[in-house]
Amino acid sequence: MTESQLFAPHDLPARWRRRRAFTFVDTTFSSFLALWQRWRDDEERCERLHVVALAPLAALDSPPSPDDASPLAAELARAWPMRVAGLHRLEFDAGRVVLTLAIGEDIETLLSKLWLRADAFHLDLTATGDPRKLCKSLARFAGDNATVCAIASDQPQLERALKASGFECAPHAAHAPVTARFAPRWRVRRHEPPLPFDANAREAIVIGAGLAGCAVSSRLAERGWRVTLIDRHALPARDASGNPAGVFHPIVWRDDSVAARLTRAGFLYALRRWQALELAHRDLRRSDAGLLQIADTAEDADALADAIARFAYPSDYVQPMTRDEASRIAGVHVARGGWLFPHGGAISPAAVCAAQLADASANITPRMNTEVTRIAHDGRLWRAFDASGEEIAQAPVMVLANAHDAERLAGLYGEPTRSVRGQLTLLEPGALDALRMPVIGEGYAVPLGHDGALIGATYDIDDPDREIREAGHRENIERVGGMLPALAKTATSVRAGRVAFRCVTSDRMPMIGQLADENAARRDARELSGAWPLDLPRMPGLYGAFAFGSRGLVWATLAAELIASQIEGEPWPIERELAEAIDPARFLLRALRHGEIGAA
Ligand SMILES: Cc1cc2nc3c(=O)[nH]c(=O)nc-3n(C[C@H](O)[C@H](O)[C@H](O)COP(=O)(O)OP(=O)(O)OC[C@H]3O[C@@H](n4cnc5c(N)ncnc54)[C@H](O)[C@@H]3O)c2cc1C
Repeated sequence: MTESQLFAPHDLPARWRRRRAFTFVDTTFSSFLALWQRWRDDEERCERLHVVALAPLAALDSPPSPDDASPLAAELARAWPMRVAGLHRLEFDAGRVVLTLAIGEDIETLLSKLWLRADAFHLDLTATGDPRKLCKSLARFAGDNATVCAIASDQPQLERALKASGFECAPHAAHAPVTARFAPRWRVRRHEPPLPFDANAREAIVIGAGLAGCAVSSRLAERGWRVTLIDRHALPARDASGNPAGVFHPIVWRDDSVAARLTRAGFLYALRRWQALELAHRDLRRSDAGLLQIADTAEDADALADAIARFAYPSDYVQPMTRDEASRIAGVHVARGGWLFPHGGAISPAAVCAAQLADASANITPRMNTEVTRIAHDGRLWRAFDASGEEIAQAPVMVLANAHDAERLAGLYGEPTRSVRGQLTLLEPGALDALRMPVIGEGYAVPLGHDGALIGATYDIDDPDREIREAGHRENIERVGGMLPALAKTATSVRAGRVAFRCVTSDRMPMIGQLADENAARRDARELSGAWPLDLPRMPGLYGAFAFGSRGLVWATLAAELIASQIEGEPWPIERELAEAIDPARFLLRALRHGEIGAA
C-alpha cells in the first residue's frame, strides 16, 4: 500500500489533530513506521498515538534492518521483541507513540483478546474466510466514526458484513480497498469500548510508595498527570519493597497457563521500562548474567525441556540446562538440571522505586510520614484523611497501592488478602563466592560480590512476627543447600537478616484495576448473578494495585501501565482474559455468581 492509500481512507492526519489520543488498528503489519513518521512531521498531531498491530508469531522473524536508512526503522529494530506470543507494548518518543503488538493466532482470535476503542482499522483480510464474525468484533471496538480500509478476496461479502455490523461503505473501484465508516443506526453493543478520561484535571492520589505505588505514579506522571504519592514511612520502599535485592524471571511451565502468560507479559514489559531508566543513567543495581532455575526433580527438568521445545521458546527467553551445563554457567555445582533465563536476574527494588520517582519528579509530589486512615468520595473527588480527620489530598482518581492496608481502606468484600511473613538471610562471603548468577528453585540465592550472598526466603502465612529468627536462617540455608550443595557442605556465617511481609490473595494473583462498587453490586445482586467483569458497577476513579505476593518486580510495572491505560481509555497492554484474572472485583464476581451475596 502506498502512503496515500494508508492515510487518505482514514482522513489522516486531519482526524488526529487536537486530540488527546488516536488509536490505529492494523493487521497489515506494515503501517507503523509511516504513521510514526507522519505523526512526527505534523505539528498539530494528537498527544498520543497508539498503533495496535496484529500478526502471527512468524511476523517477529523479520525485524526492520538496523542498518535501514530510516532512523525510525533503526529505533524499531532496537526495540524488537522476543519471539514469544502475547501482547508486546513498545514505547517511543517519550511514551507518546505506542506500538502494541498482538502476536499469536489468527486475526479473529487476536481481536477477541483485545480491549480498546479504535479510531481506524487498516485490514488485510485476504486470508480471512467469512468476514461476518470479524466485522462484529470491529463493531465492538469501533469509536464514533471509526474508519475501515480493507483489502479482501471477496469484496461484496465483506461489504455486506460491514453493513450488517453498523458500518457505511463508500463506493469504490473494483479491486480497490473497501473503505467504510462506523455509523450504526442503533447501538446494540452490550458494553461501550473504553472511554477517554473526561475530567479536566489529570490529578491522582497514589497511596503507598513501594514497587506498586512508584510504578503507578511514574506511568501516570509520564502521561502528564500530577500525582500526590502518600506513604507512612519517611522514604519510599521501606516495607516489602525494601529488600536488598529481589529476583525477576517469567514462569515457564508445562502448559501456557494464565500465570505463565501474565508473568511473561510482566517480565518483558518490566525489562523495557528498566532499560529506559538505565538509558537515562539511573542505576537499578540489576545483574546481567541471566538467572538459573533449578528443577525440583530430574523429571521436572526433562518435562520443562520438552515444554520449551514444544512452545518453540527462543533461546533469548529460556534455555533448558542439563545439570552439567547449569553447574558450568552458575560457577558452582547444582543439584539438578533446570533452565536459564538469559534476561532474568536480580535487581534492587528500592533502586527501581527511586529511579521511577526521580525520572518523573516534576509531576510527583511525595507526602511521606503520612498515614491515610480513611478515604471518601464526594461524587466528584476522592479524598484521603489522616488520623486527626485532616484532609491530606483530593483528586478525581485514587490508586490504592498500599499492599495489606488496601482492603481495609476500600472495605473490600470477603477480606481477600492475607499476609505472608518472609525472612531473608545475608551470608558472609564463603560457600557461594563462585556463584555467578542468581539461582532460584526451592529458594533463591543472589550473589552480592564482596558482600557475600542473599538467600531466602521463608514463607510463613499469617505470622506477624517482625523479629529475625535463627530457625528462619537455618531453613533458608537448608533450602538453598538443596539446590547448591556447596552451601550445605561448607560452614558459612550469617551476617544479617531481614523480615518483611508479602501481601497475597487465595488464588495468588495480584489485585489490579478498577475497584467494584460493592454496595451497588449488593443491591443488584440478583441481576448480577450471571455477570461478567464488564457488567459490574465500578467505583468511579478508584483503582487498586496490590497483592503482588512474591512477584512484585515482575508485575508492578505492567500493573501500572494497565491501570494508566484503563484510566485514560487507551488500549489495554494485556489480553482481557489476563486482566480479568487480576481484576480486583473477581472475588465479588464469584460470590455473586454463587449466590453468596444477596440484597440484604
Ligand atoms: C522476604 C521477601 C522476599 C521477596 N522476594 C521477592 C523477589 O525475589 N522478587 C519479587 O519480585 N518479589 C519478591 N518479594 C515480593 C515483593 O517484595 C513484593 O511483591 C513487593 O515489594 C510489593 O510491593 P508493594 O508496593 O505492593 O508493597 P510494599 O512494598 O509493602 O509497599 C506498600 C506501601 O504502602 C504503605 N502504606 C500502607 N498502608 C498505608 C497507609 N494507610 N497510608 C500510607 N501508606 C501506607 C507502606 O508504608 C508501604 O510503603 C519478596 C517479598 C518478601 C517479603
